[in-house]
Amino acid sequence: MKRLVAVLLVLMFVTFSGVGRVRSEVRGVFCQVPVSVFSRYPADKITVPIMVVNKGTSDMCLQKIEVVLQDGTPVLEETLSETLAPSSLQGLTDEETRNQIGIVQPDEKSLATAQALIAKAATMGPSEERTRTVETAWLLLRTTTTNVEAAAAENVLSQARLLSLTIPLDKLNTKIEPSDVIPVRLDITIQSSDGSISTISQTTNLFYLTSLPSQWGWYPGDGHLHSKWSDGNSLVSSVAATASNRGLKWTIITDHAGDTAHPTTPSGQSRLEASEWTTYGGTSPLGCTYAQTNSGITVCPGEELATQEGLGGSHLLTYKNSSYAASFTLPLKQGLINNANNAGGFGIIAHPYNSSFLWNDWSNGSYTGFRGIELISNGTVVDATQIADWDSYLRGHLSATMQDPSHRFCVGLAGSDFHTTWVSDYLGANMNYIYTGSSTPPGIYRSSVYSALENGRASASSDGSLLVHKITTGGTYLPGYYMQKSAAGNIAVNVYAAYFMSMPVGGWAKVEIVTSAGTIVTDYVVSQTIVNKDYSIYVSGDTYVRVQVTFFDGNTRFSSCFTNPTFIDFVPYNQ
Ligand SMILES: [Zn+2]
Ligand SMILES: [Zn+2]
Repeated sequence: MKRLVAVLLVLMFVTFSGVGRVRSEVRGVFCQVPVSVFSRYPADKITVPIMVVNKGTSDMCLQKIEVVLQDGTPVLEETLSETLAPSSLQGLTDEETRNQIGIVQPDEKSLATAQALIAKAATMGPSEERTRTVETAWLLLRTTTTNVEAAAAENVLSQARLLSLTIPLDKLNTKIEPSDVIPVRLDITIQSSDGSISTISQTTNLFYLTSLPSQWGWYPGDGHLHSKWSDGNSLVSSVAATASNRGLKWTIITDHAGDTAHPTTPSGQSRLEASEWTTYGGTSPLGCTYAQTNSGITVCPGEELATQEGLGGSHLLTYKNSSYAASFTLPLKQGLINNANNAGGFGIIAHPYNSSFLWNDWSNGSYTGFRGIELISNGTVVDATQIADWDSYLRGHLSATMQDPSHRFCVGLAGSDFHTTWVSDYLGANMNYIYTGSSTPPGIYRSSVYSALENGRASASSDGSLLVHKITTGGTYLPGYYMQKSAAGNIAVNVYAAYFMSMPVGGWAKVEIVTSAGTIVTDYVVSQTIVNKDYSIYVSGDTYVRVQVTFFDGNTRFSSCFTNPTFIDFVPYNQ
């Protein structure tokens, strides 16, 4: 929430019959449920976030929440009996409250179009057209961008009661299929201090999307997530459950540390001590192992360290070793990198181009020892200037990479920087696919997640689309691999790219193959959800090969993915 520069909005307010009057104004209660919530096949549950704020002057009691289907069939009832203390938001209208957080209602046209598409899909049998219809509706209800002031948003969110209601999918419909949409009503019962009881009804559309694209040995996940341990709004277990519902197979929880702007739990401490890492990583209900067991996906401990340089400090994601917080002494960029390395972990520079946390001089040679860079984060897509800096860095360090026995290079990654489902929620969007070489997801083997990231066996994605490249000359070489070659000649590069939804007619994918000499292949593939193509490229000296794909849905939506490089070392000449 500290970085609300561009906010993707997921959350809108409608009545059961469409855009309507806000009933909560009458009761002095602000209540918000997103207009759409999603999970992905084969997840078996869906989590609905609910926000309630007491805008009256005395205590209220949040009694219960009931979920009912459109035809009135009850689905779930959760009894809460929770006191809602008055907030300082009495003066704000619901509209103003939403504006402060950055919640934008869908315009009537988008909502009407989406509802028509949902109704149409309900009459269709399983088909590609139905899938596309549902996905189009989901996009219409999902994304809007706005700018909000961080302190004002924080003020509202800190006084709100944020709930999440998990609904098992089989309670909604025993035959729920991928690309089903189920509209439900949430009846929220609140008792005022005078004893009167009122029910606020909110509706939402539960989208059950098809699964994320897949390739053997590759697994989707996110290495930049926050929880209640720092400034997130959800417990680690809830973050992991949401990630799992959205199709991810691994996560790294990177709460802020070493940073007075992001106080940690227990409060009053500026960072996690080594002993707290045991809890954080462990089996207590607040820990990563507990979350891992309950979500069924890998939940790794990590942290996000901050320097005192610049306005908001610069941020380094640190992975693999969970005790380096204890060695935190030097709040300078190079000091952070060194501490992570000295503890046996490694650091990834976070959102280096975010104006509040600048570290955009990362590529000019001032810093050594960092293992990677976040090139997609907080809802962005690939940026030409940033990726050019990366290429320039890879080129400048080409000979060092070849000579290093581990062939280390600067790994390019994406991260959602998830804090809360209410703002900047890119969980399941800005993400990575890692190659573990196993037929099953990493599960309890956190080291395989760290290892894939550390060695760049990864591709980054702005929205869940998958991109993999494979050099198939003289063996099989994936992103992060190192190969040797003795003579100039052509090599075969297979590019496999899958859009995270179905690509509509008129949409396209732009495939670019980049080496140390620049972009040497640019190819457009039209109207295909999956691109699986072989290219032949000529190489004559030490170089790297990486691939970048931009997807365009033919309307307004761009997304992008890139692979990490495969290095080609010409021997014995070491050119
Ligand atoms: Zn950060
Ligand atoms: Zn962060």
